[in-house]
Amino acid sequence: MASDSVVDDETRLQYLQAMGIEVWVPRRNRAAVSIEPVEAAVEPKQQEETIENVAEMPVEDNWDDLERQVAACRRCQLCETRTQTVFGSGNKQADWMLIGEAPGQSEDLEGKPFVGKAGQLLTEMIRAMGLSRDQVFIANVLKCRPPGNRDPKSDEVEACREFLQRQIALVQPRIILAVGRIAAQNLLQTQDPLAKLRSVVHKLDNIPLIVIYHPAYLLRSPLEKRKAWEDLQFAMKTFKGLN
Ligand code: SF4
Repeated sequence: MASDSVVDDETRLQYLQAMGIEVWVPRRNRAAVSIEPVEAAVEPKQQEETIENVAEMPVEDNWDDLERQVAACRRCQLCETRTQTVFGSGNKQADWMLIGEAPGQSEDLEGKPFVGKAGQLLTEMIRAMGLSRDQVFIANVLKCRPPGNRDPKSDEVEACREFLQRQIALVQPRIILAVGRIAAQNLLQTQDPLAKLRSVVHKLDNIPLIVIYHPAYLLRSPLEKRKAWEDLQFAMKTFKGLN
C-alpha cells in the first residue's frame, strides 16, 4: 500500500510539473515524498444555486438522438459561422464532468473540446487529480464556436442550454467542474467574479459544482497555477467527501 502511494505521488508530481506547478520538495527526498493535499483556504460549504431541473428531461432520451440534434442545430446565429459542432467527449458514465464555455478555433476545426495548448494543460490538470480524459466527460456550454472567440451571448447560452442539460442528465455525474469564469457564470447564472466563485461547493441541479481556472487563462497567467492546484485539491476533497 505504502509503495503504491509513493508511485502515485511520484506520478502526480510529474503531472504537477507538467502543469508548471512547483511542489516544494527537496530533490533528494522526492522518491519518498507524500504530496498531502493543501487545505483549501475555505472549507467546503454548500451554496444552493440551481438552474432548471435536468431530472425533468425525457426518460427515453439517448446519446444518438442528442448528438444528431446538436449536429443539425440551427437554433442560434453561431450555426452560420461554425465549421462543425463540438458535442463533447469522454466517458458517458463518468463521475466527473468538466464544462467549459465554448469551442475555440482548434476545437471548431477538430470537432473535439479542449484541444490545442489549453487542452493539453487541461489534460495535465485532470491527470494531476489522478484521472485521465477517458475517465471524465468534457463538454461546453455552447456547442458552436463564437466568432473570434468572443464570450457567449445570453441568447446563445439560452438556445443551447437544453443540450447541456440533456448531457448532464445522461451522464449523471457525481461532481461537475466549471472550467473558467465564463462557464461558471453561465452555469450558475451569476455575475460574481471568479475570486468569489472559487473554493465554494455550488450546486447545479443538486450536483456539486466546483469552479476551476480555465487552462487558457493559466497559460497567460502562469503565476496563478498554484491557486489552480488548490482548486483541484478542493475538488478532490469534495468528491472524496461524497463517498
Ligand atoms: S451554439 Fe448551440 S444552440 Fe447555437 S447553433 Fe450551436 S448547437 Fe445550436
